[in-house]
Amino acid sequence: MKYLKIFLALFLIAGNFVTVSLKPQKVTRTAFLLDTYISVTAYGKNAENAVDKAIDRVAEIDGLLSCFNPESEIFRLNENSYLKVSPETFDLISRAVELSKKTDGAFDITVKPIMDLWGFGSENQSTPEEDKLLKKLALVDYKNIILDKKEKSVSFKNKGMKIDLGGIAKGYAADCAAKVLKENGAENAYLDFGGNVVTIGKMPKGLLGIEKSRSFVIGIQDPLKERGEIFEKVTAKGENCAVVTSGSYERYFEENGEKYHHIIDPKTGKQPKNEILSVTVVSDSSETADALSTAFFVSGEEFAKTKKDLFKEVIIYKTSGEIIKITGEK
Ligand code: ADP
Ligand code: MG
Repeated sequence: MKYLKIFLALFLIAGNFVTVSLKPQKVTRTAFLLDTYISVTAYGKNAENAVDKAIDRVAEIDGLLSCFNPESEIFRLNENSYLKVSPETFDLISRAVELSKKTDGAFDITVKPIMDLWGFGSENQSTPEEDKLLKKLALVDYKNIILDKKEKSVSFKNKGMKIDLGGIAKGYAADCAAKVLKENGAENAYLDFGGNVVTIGKMPKGLLGIEKSRSFVIGIQDPLKERGEIFEKVTAKGENCAVVTSGSYERYFEENGEKYHHIIDPKTGKQPKNEILSVTVVSDSSETADALSTAFFVSGEEFAKTKKDLFKEVIIYKTSGEIIKITGEK
């Protein structure tokens, strides 16, 4: 009997050992940062520490870039029309301006005065009066951002100009968090920052019973269906893969039976009239994919077709239900 017990105990330990070695450790953490719910998941023995550090990094970025936090660099820059900023903020604004140039101004971080007028998400959200809109529209132009590389200062040519990094900050933060995960030994991981997904490495074996590690597959929300219902899957390619979606179905308000969403054409100050419900961009950079998804939402599929050098793939969902796929050259 005693022998049997020892044998059983050994068997159980061995059994546990087998289970542990087959099922990789998985750690997921979520937080509300950058005005959205973010989640970070990593596999393997370094996962816990790596995920914690990645979330800390996003909190740090939130502290720099939020245009609602009076302590942030962006808030202070907007208040004073001039600020010496950290190299990190300076470089991000510089790259955002580059992306404005590449998208002929469809992506433009100087839309902030217009966003304030619409007031999305605030108690005062409503369609702006035409004359007020035209006045604020005169303040929108990325070419009027002055970047002094030597002094690391940012200033605005016109009084009242303000910037809003809402169309790029989540993408940038996801790239940074992915870097932190890798630096801390997480070789297989994924992040989801409110529609900005980044995968690192592969889905490890042992997960969901799979026998060999395999590429991550990212589902894309169907804009006309319940949350969680997807219309397309993207298989992650490469060491890092970013899949970013901009849509009109998440942040909007209704007035007189019309829906008004939060992506604005910087040329008109209003929602673009191109019958697009969502734009998904696949790239190795989440920052670029974030800015491009906003830009293509504004400027449409014909424009996206002229910018194939900037992305791996673009998937556009039209109001008619038509789905347009554009293969990029990057
Ligand atoms: P989400 O933030 O919902 O994922 P986007 O990445 O498309 O969606 O970003 C939309 C946000 O970007 C808006 O809330 C606003 O802050 C800002 N924005 C809106 N229109 C533009 C634009 N044309 N160019 C740059 N930023 C924009
Ligand atoms: Mg975006």
